Amino acid sequence: MKEFDYIIIGGGCAGLSLAYELEINEKLKDKTLAIIEPRLEYKRDKTWSFWKVVPHNFDDCVKKNWQNFSINIPGKTNHLECKDYPYQSIDSGLFYEKINNKLKKNKNIYFYKDTKEINTVNSFIFNSVPNIKKNHLNLWQHFCGVEIETKTNYFDNEIFNLMDFDCEQRDSVHFFYTLPYSKNKALVETTWLSKMNDNSQKDYDKQIKDYIDKNLKIKDYEITYREEGAIPLFYPLYEKEKNKMNIGTAGGMTRLSTGYTFLNIQEHSKFIRKNIESIHNTKKFEINKKYQFLDEIFLRVLEKHPKKMSEIFFKMFQSSPKTIIKFLSNKSNFLEDLTIILKMPKWIFIKALFY
Ligand SMILES: Cc1cc2nc3c(=O)[nH]c(=O)nc-3n(C[C@H](O)[C@H](O)[C@H](O)COP(=O)(O)OP(=O)(O)OC[C@H]3O[C@@H](n4cnc5c(N)ncnc54)[C@H](O)[C@@H]3O)c2cc1C
Repeated sequence: MKEFDYIIIGGGCAGLSLAYELEINEKLKDKTLAIIEPRLEYKRDKTWSFWKVVPHNFDDCVKKNWQNFSINIPGKTNHLECKDYPYQSIDSGLFYEKINNKLKKNKNIYFYKDTKEINTVNSFIFNSVPNIKKNHLNLWQHFCGVEIETKTNYFDNEIFNLMDFDCEQRDSVHFFYTLPYSKNKALVETTWLSKMNDNSQKDYDKQIKDYIDKNLKIKDYEITYREEGAIPLFYPLYEKEKNKMNIGTAGGMTRLSTGYTFLNIQEHSKFIRKNIESIHNTKKFEINKKYQFLDEIFLRVLEKHPKKMSEIFFKMFQSSPKTIIKFLSNKSNFLEDLTIILKMPKWIFIKALFY
């Protein structure tokens, strides 16, 4: 069976981002790479959005940039500006197409459906398939979004709504997220932060229909696309193994308090590319420990006090938008961290240190 210098298990966001980063930096001229991906065809399945706090390779896959956003709880709305760090949405269909077209041109890159088809013994493996054991105590961000098209112009496409808590909470944390791509097209998503113990919160289609009807007050629309998913708000099992490194969600690239992962994956890919010649001895790339610690406390509060979370999120966004964006994108300094921490209800968070 054929052997390779590198193997990437999982040709999704992290696997393809890494392969692309290596390819465009000519790291695969004299090295071979096998990508293992079971899916039969690539089609649009996700919309990756984030504040662009660092450059990335996929500006040409961006569906839209926004410089303004809002967050609201019943009776209150906060408008924020994000000119310094625009919010971007990437169409996964364009992303897969761009990368696969590029990779196919390099004869050193091979594609397989299963690791059983190749010899993996002497290769360095980048694994993006997470090892998640079912545990009813784990928190998830689970959601469903639909893209809708309206007959008449309805949306203000200059501003997106990050969180609208004006909806049923069902003893959990629930909000809607609306990304208006144009005046008559938007992604409307229902998002839950919960343990997913049962399916009672998964009546997504009804939630979205009611929200479009009652909150957005749109009657005449067509659904043109639907996506559903769940992001673990905990780190998947990561056993240290010789000649193997986890990437993507499997590699701990999700910011646990927010679910944002895409830009961390891009930074991890750049880190690997810079260290590829000495990859066997390279240390694990991690989201800064201070965020891991703060997110753990935050999630403990979220678990214990779901009803208070809409107010807490709303307060958090009363800091300067630049500060909060940097904090949520792992780019804040100590003073900025402190500004956010001081916005939090102190006693609840201090108690959470000792749960
Ligand atoms: C619907 C959705 C929307 C999201 N939106 C955002 C967002 O807006 N912003 C953000 O920052 N993050 C977002 N995320 C989180 C995160 O960015 C994505 O989950 C991202 O795709 C993670 O990349 P990954 O490579 O780790 O996983 P994936 O992209 O899921 O890639 C894993 C790949 O492994 C393949 N695979 C599975 N089993 C095997 C196997 N046994 N052998 C080989 N391959 C296998 C899968 O087919 C898949 O292609 C979203 C997640 C989901 C699910």
